[in-house]
Amino acid sequence: MNNATKTALVTGASRGIGRAIAQRLAKDGFTVIVNYAGNAASAEETIQEIIAQGGHAVAIQADVASEADVSRLFLQAKAITGQLDVVVHSAGIMPMAKITPAGLADFDKVIHTNLRGAFLVLAHAGEAVSDNGRIIALSTSVIAKSFPAYGPYIASKAGVEGLVHVLANELRGRNITVNAVAPGPTGTDLFFNGKSDEQIAAIAKLAPLERIGTPDEIANVVATLAGPDGSWINSQVIRVNGGFA
Ligand code: NDP
Repeated sequence: MNNATKTALVTGASRGIGRAIAQRLAKDGFTVIVNYAGNAASAEETIQEIIAQGGHAVAIQADVASEADVSRLFLQAKAITGQLDVVVHSAGIMPMAKITPAGLADFDKVIHTNLRGAFLVLAHAGEAVSDNGRIIALSTSVIAKSFPAYGPYIASKAGVEGLVHVLANELRGRNITVNAVAPGPTGTDLFFNGKSDEQIAAIAKLAPLERIGTPDEIANVVATLAGPDGSWINSQVIRVNGGFA
């Protein structure tokens, strides 16, 4: 399989892990659709970096939790080269809230963006991706940790993992793989925001490799799933976390 004529849509690709995935898939030869929510300048930076490396990329704004936006995103994405081979759903948020009555607003927010968003993106991906294609959603290794205040976020990502397994079954017969990649702590805004240096250092020590991961290290695994070497990996959650288990 040659990636050179293939197209990949990456949600949440203006920053962080999504950006690293977009850059890596572009390097692997995919034409990349860079989705973002509101940060147009950051999405443009992703595009310019890809173009500077000789790749092809186009930015499309869409809120992954909006039905109208996601329909338009897939229509526009498919129109660019006429086909869609890979969808990577990386867009996500991580508000912290304890399981108390006061936490309901954050729970609603993260379920709306992370779980409704995943449902919409996976639903359209299932229809739009060509036979033999690949669908990959980002989950999280923190599900196994059950840290206080991660309840809403963990609930949203546990839901994402459930959707991935079911969609893999629903797409039987089309040779499309559907998997989740579940990073441990990774150096992006989502991880750093709201944490002190001491908290970051303590979290970094949790994995036996005693550091946080880089977005590129997550992108490497997504690229494997998206490329020829991923052909027999289906309906799996791959935890990429330096042993933070
Ligand atoms: P960042 O905060 O660095 O980037 C988030 C990205 O998602 C941005 O591109 C942002 O767009 C986009 N986004 C946010 N909300 C929406 C929305 N409603 N519609 C469309 N795009 C949206 O996050 P990370 O790169 O760290 O996280 C990527 C994924 O990896 C997430 O699903 C996260 O849960 C998961 N993950 C991250 C870990 C980490 O430690 N970083 C660990 C485990 C999992 P814009 O720039 O326009 O705001």
